[in-house]
Amino acid sequence: MHTRNGNMTGSRILVFGAHPDDIEFGCGAVLLDAAAKGAKIDLVVLSRGEAGTHGNRSIREKEALNAAHLLGAELHFATTPGDTRLQADLEIKLLAAKEIRRLKPDLVFAPSGHLNQHPDHRETSRVVRDANRLARYGKTPGLENWEPHATKALLFYDISIEAAGTDGLVPFLVDVSSQVEKWTDLMKCHESQTGNLDYVDLQLSRARVLGIQAGVASALRLYSEGPLLWSSIETVLSARGPRL
Ligand SMILES: [Zn+2]
Repeated sequence: MHTRNGNMTGSRILVFGAHPDDIEFGCGAVLLDAAAKGAKIDLVVLSRGEAGTHGNRSIREKEALNAAHLLGAELHFATTPGDTRLQADLEIKLLAAKEIRRLKPDLVFAPSGHLNQHPDHRETSRVVRDANRLARYGKTPGLENWEPHATKALLFYDISIEAAGTDGLVPFLVDVSSQVEKWTDLMKCHESQTGNLDYVDLQLSRARVLGIQAGVASALRLYSEGPLLWSSIETVLSARGPRL
């Protein structure tokens, strides 16, 4: 996105994740950059990660709160059927759409929906994709108490390497070189998940490879539902094409 002028004060970003660490691992570096530029960030997490092999519900809640604090974001846990039980049904879509109407974000982030990954990530992707539409439709039944809200863009992030794949979405890279150290600290907030640090290394390496390809230290890939509109050819000057 446009980072050269860097003033995001007054902008709001709403990020959805299935589990307490998804957001920080998937797009934490991008959010740190947005927060540093003044954006207000809300995180909505659809489970407490209570079915995870490591940690438990209360440990993971606490880790997510620590991470949100470091990010300067507000964390909301949604009431859903829970970890490994997420289904993109109407009830949860309305819940997500309600959050979009309530928080009125400019940008909404969701996990990418590739098949080969944790089913909760895939379901969350579908939930948010549909919720983003339901939030703007004028007369969606069940949302009458909240004003319709149209976001500027819905963007998707990869949680794991397996999740990478365009699935008809439009990929673009964001330079996150300035946030790598803080991003490492952010991911390490999820101590119960980073016992051997391979997960942290994996994300840092992924960003490094994308960065090398783009000619910067580190970059993260996001996706948009369709082509993003640049306000003029002038703003495209803050972007540049592949180097390799
Ligand atoms: Zn997850």
